[in-house]
This record gives sequence, C-alpha cells and structure tokens, in this order.
Amino acid sequence: MTPTSDRAAGRALVLEPASQRLRIVVREALERVQLQVAWAGRAQPFERALESRPPALVVVDAEAEGAEAAIRAAAGVGSPVLAIVPGADPGAADRVLEWGACEVVRAPFPWRELANRASLLTRSAGGAERSAPARNDELAVITRLAGFSPWSFEPGEQTIRTTEQALSHFGVTRPGPAPLELLLAWADPEDRKALVAALTGGPLRDGSFALDTRLTLPDRTERIVHWQGEVPHGSDQCPRGIVRDVTEERRNASRLRFLGHHDELTGTLSRMAFLQQMERAISLARRHRRCGALMLVYLDGFAALNEEHGDEVGDLVLRDAAERLAQCLRQTDYVSRASATKETGQADPLISRLGGDEFTLLLTDLSQPEDAARVAHRIIEAMRVPLSVGGGSLLIGANIGIAIYPRDAVESDSLLRCADAALSRARQTGRNQHQFFQTTSDPARARRLTLERKIARGFENGDFQLYYQPQVDIETGEILAFEALLRWNDEAWGAVSPAEFVPVAEAAGMIETIGEWNMREATRQMCLWRDAGLQPVRMSLNISPRHFRGDRLLRALNQVLWDTELDPELLEFEITENAFMENQEAAVAIASELKRIGVSVALDDFGTGYSSLSHLRRFPIDCLKIDRSFVADISLDPESAAITAAILSMARALRLRVIAEGVETEKQRQFLKARGCREFQGFLFSPAVAPDDAAKWLRRA
Ligand code: C2E
Ligand code: CA
Ligand code: CA
Repeated sequence: MTPTSDRAAGRALVLEPASQRLRIVVREALERVQLQVAWAGRAQPFERALESRPPALVVVDAEAEGAEAAIRAAAGVGSPVLAIVPGADPGAADRVLEWGACEVVRAPFPWRELANRASLLTRSAGGAERSAPARNDELAVITRLAGFSPWSFEPGEQTIRTTEQALSHFGVTRPGPAPLELLLAWADPEDRKALVAALTGGPLRDGSFALDTRLTLPDRTERIVHWQGEVPHGSDQCPRGIVRDVTEERRNASRLRFLGHHDELTGTLSRMAFLQQMERAISLARRHRRCGALMLVYLDGFAALNEEHGDEVGDLVLRDAAERLAQCLRQTDYVSRASATKETGQADPLISRLGGDEFTLLLTDLSQPEDAARVAHRIIEAMRVPLSVGGGSLLIGANIGIAIYPRDAVESDSLLRCADAALSRARQTGRNQHQFFQTTSDPARARRLTLERKIARGFENGDFQLYYQPQVDIETGEILAFEALLRWNDEAWGAVSPAEFVPVAEAAGMIETIGEWNMREATRQMCLWRDAGLQPVRMSLNISPRHFRGDRLLRALNQVLWDTELDPELLEFEITENAFMENQEAAVAIASELKRIGVSVALDDFGTGYSSLSHLRRFPIDCLKIDRSFVADISLDPESAAITAAILSMARALRLRVIAEGVETEKQRQFLKARGCREFQGFLFSPAVAPDDAAKWLRRA
C-alpha cells in the first residue's frame, strides 16, 4: 500500500450525499481544484474504499447515512476530512469536529468556498513525508487557518500547553505552558468552574467534553472560546483536545435568533413573535379578569414622504417612529422574555411592524379600556413632533384603531380585524385621530367575525362534511351525477348553511383551501365507490369565483387526478356566471384548460347573473343550471315560465346540457320535461344525503 502516491494523484473520496444537488456542487468544486472524485457509500462500502486507497481528502455530508462512521474511519487512517453541515443546525459543526473532521463547511455554500477549503486541506496535508520541522510549520498553518489549536493539560503542574494564538484568546501573552489559574483569570466564574471540573474532576461519562468559556478581557472585549477535549482515564495520558475562538460564530447565531424574532429595519418584534406574545397576553388577561388593548397605528403621509424623499429617508422615519412608539409605552408593556433580556440586554416593547407604514402595539394589563385612549393620545402627540433630517424637517401624522380584549375578541386574528375596522373609522374622521372598535354598531359584522374563527377551527377539527345530491334523468329517474354540497354542524350554533358560511370563507381568503379539500374529499369518495364496484357517475363540485383564477385550482386538480387515477370526464365544476364576468380572460383560459383535460364546466344559478347570450357563446362551458328561483315559480308566474322555456331553447341551440335546479313538485317536473329539459335535481327526487345513503342509490342503479 503506498498512500503517498495516491495522495499525489489527488483523489478525493466522497461519502455519497443525500441530496442530488449537493452531489453536483461537490463534484464541481473538487474537480476545479484538480481532485479526482470517487464516490462511496451506496454501491461501495465507504470503509473498504478508504482502506484500499487512503485518499488525499475525504468529504462527508454530515446528513448522509453513515456520516459519523465515515468521518471516524477517515480520521483513523489519517486522511483530512472536510465535513458539510447544515447551516441551520448550530450544534452540527461541533459534532463533526468531535468525530474527527478537520474542516467544516456550512450548507448552503458557494462551490468556490468548498473548492478553496479542499485545496487548502490537501495542500497542507499532502506533505506527510516531509521533515518534522516542516510538518510543525504546516501544522501551525493548518491550525491557524482552521482556527483551532491543540492543547494538553498537565495535571501535576496544573498547566495548559497550547499555541500562542490560543493563549492570546485568553489574554495571555507569554508563550509556554500557562498555569490554568492564569489562563482563566478573565473567564466567567461559572464557565471557569465548569472547565476546571471537566479537566480535573471525576471521570466524565464518555471521557470527552465540549464547552464554552466566556471571557471579558481587561480591555473590555468579550470573547467566547470553545473547548473540546478528551480525558483518558485509567491511563497515564494527559487530557488533551482542541480549542478555538467562537466569538463571531456565537454572535451570529444569537443575531440570527434575534432576527427571527424581530423586524430587521426597526428592531421591533416580528409578526410571529408579536402574535405569540399576544396569545399569551390574552390568556393572562382572561385568567386575571383584566383587559388589554391591541392598537393599530397607521403613519399618515408616510407613503407620500417615502415617494418624495426615497427609501433611505423612509427607513429613517420608520426607525424613528418605532422609537417614539416604544417611548410611549410603560415598561410593564415590554416583553419580559428571559431570552430577550439575556440576548439583547433589554426587554422588548410589544410593538411590531405589520406592513410598510403600520405598527401594531399591545397594551397589557389595563384596568379599564379607556386607559388605552390616553396612550393613543400620547402616541399621536409624539408622532406630531417633526423629525429633522439633513437640515429640513419632516412631518407625519398618525391614526390609531383600538381593539380591546377580551371585550371585542379573544383571538389574535379577530382582534387584528377589530383594530383594523377601528382604524378605518379613525381615518374617516381625519388625521391624528383614534377610534375604538364598536361591536354594538354592527351585530352582523360581529357574527361574521365569529363565524370566520369558527370556520377555521371547524375545518381543522374535521367538522365539515360533504353531502351528495343526485342529478337525475327527468324521464327515467336514473342517477346521472351527484352534486357535492358542504355541510357543517357547529357545536354551539348547530347546522350552519353554506349559503351563510361560504361567502364568509370567501371574504376571509379561506375558500381556496376549502375548495381543494372538497375536491380531495369528493374524489376520495368516488374512489371508495369505484373500489366497491359501484357504477361510476359524474361528480359536480362547486368552485368559488375566487378560486377560479390563477393556477392554484388547476394544480390541485392535476394532483388529485394523478393521485386517484379517476377519469377526468367524471368531474364537473360548477361556477356562477360572475366567475366568468369578473375576469373574463382568465376564466375563459381556465375553462379551456379544463376542457382540454376533460373536466366539464357548468354555469350555476343561471339567469341570476349578468351574462348575456353573446357571453355564453364565448365561454367554453358544457352545461347550464337553471336557477331554482325560476323553477320555483314556473307554475305560478308566467314570466318565470317564459324565461325557463327561453333558456331551454337557447341551450339547445348552443348544444349545452341543461339541469333544472330546485325541482320540488311533480308539476314542475312535467313542465320542464315538456319544454325539453332532460335532467333535474331537487327535493322531488332527493335532497343532498350522506355518503352512505348516496351509495344506496348507486347500488340500486
Ligand atoms: P347551489 O350550488 O346552487 O346549491 C344548490 C342548493 O340548493 C343547495 O343548498 C341545495 O341543498 C339546495 N336545493 C337542492 N334542491 C332543492 C330543492 O328542491 N329546493 C330547495 N329549496 N333547495 C334545494 P345548500 O347546500 O344550502 O347550498 C347553498 C349554496 O352554498 C350552494 O348553492 C352553493 O352556492 C354554496 N355551496 C354549497 N356547497 C359548496 C361548496 O362545497 N363549495 C362552494 N364554493 N360553495 C358551496
Ligand atoms: Ca351548485
Ligand atoms: Ca345553483
């Protein structure tokens, strides 16, 4: 075995990474620095590849299967190991170093970085056969570049032997073995205790340790040094390991944590952190029978100012506004999160920037709602003071909407909506005004707000169900299709009609989610029937106009068709005329695509919207559903009868299928049949029924 010749050939052995992308980047990087890449791990066991030809470099993705064993094995044969660790996992670097890696790259990384490190590692490790002094020299280079130094501890003398560079981390300038006492002179007392215990205390569980020492040097610089060591027990070897300065690393990590909770521009809480605090504050208030206020502060005139003076000035104004808001709050309204205090040295005011020029702010523990008005007043006054920028002065105003919890709402999103409504009213009154949310003024709105919450929750709890109403042949009564209709039983309110909750879900932006659930649920049901050997019939799904645009609907449909392998011809989408009228081009495009896929489209509630005959010809639809208001009146009202007859003859001319909706009586059925209608749906045959009852119809068929 002649390892040196292999090293000269520049072979890099790579443990096959989990991701294909990583594979590409690694190959690219290594080949750029003239390393010949060999893969191992899947087709070939890594250890065997290693033993047969110890490579110049080993690269291991810490997330790949067998990463630990591979690193340990490579370190065992003396090949330098470069480990790739996920950047999001702060402990990963320490772990792989402990396994024996000598260099770490955090993913994601540019391939150039990997190339540089690989090149450095192979160059410094390549001279294994050189003279001892040269090797020492190179060791010094490696440790300096890699940022760590070896150390050993002499228990008798209580001294640490390490590099000058490492000594300097501790503020020690004299070279040579340093008394532990001296080395730790500036260390945090707790950290000092921990290190001394690790070095001199009883045997450690697995003989190894890793810990941080925080230092405050005489010139007041703060530093964090990371120790990793082994304490061999039962032998006469000294404890030893590596040590490195991790000040920047730890600072970055804590800054990242800070940014996760904060808005980078203003330093106020991130939306998520704010909502979390709000949930907490609301439940505390409920428990202690106190109240609190959620304020929405709108910077009036900010948009224009930003436009006129540019983003830089805009940012300045936002930062200044955040500062002023913070000053208007009492300290008790600050978050007393232990972590926040520790990391930033101060508590956070409960302020968050919602969008460009809107801030939300929480007043906790108010004895009465009116107290919020005083704070609002203070804020408005504070915002009025002009801000001087570059010799000039800028003026903005503020409007504030206030929602009180638990009086107005007890859920953060409803509270935000209350505050929003209050803010709209405040802005209607003029600049520099505040308004409270008023429930009593709008009970319908209050029910809507509650409904919104209930829908979201009911949906999560699986309280929604699909019922199926048969669409039948007007002559034979044969079942041709089912229309899927949503049913919802709320615990407190009982059955809530889709006619009430669908519009609310639409307004609240939930209808797409609901529509997609419907599609999955209805097709799941169809699959169950198919698998039970029942006769396949068409399924008609109601699609909201909001959903009938963009590509979300088609993507969901394709997914469902892919998953279920159902024949697309078994699906029909019901949409109202308005879906077409609101955005004709987009709607026509979607309908055409549906036609291409094989899914048919029916125009629901036909006759109640505003489409005309000329529109009908342009819309690529397959079916018209005559609205039940006409059907209800056909036998009483000549006008309805005339309209229905007209729709039927027009549809025939356009070669469209027609379904009459809401047929309740035999008389209506006869009338429709006589005018050439072929299909109907209505209580005369059956209302929408539960899936099991629908299956009975199919079995009978
Ligand atoms: P729609 O699409 O026009 O649905 C037909 C409605 O008429 C259903 O009310 C159905 O139960 C009712 N109906 C059927 N036959 C008769 C009858 O003979 N007489 C009378 N009086 N009514 C009859 P439902 O289920 O309450 O649905 C109301 C509306 O809610 C639907 O009108 C539709 O616009 C909407 N909707 C229901 N389910 C969904 C859904 O899954 N997604 C969407 N986007 N909307 C839905
Ligand atoms: Ca319908
Ligand atoms: Ca309808």
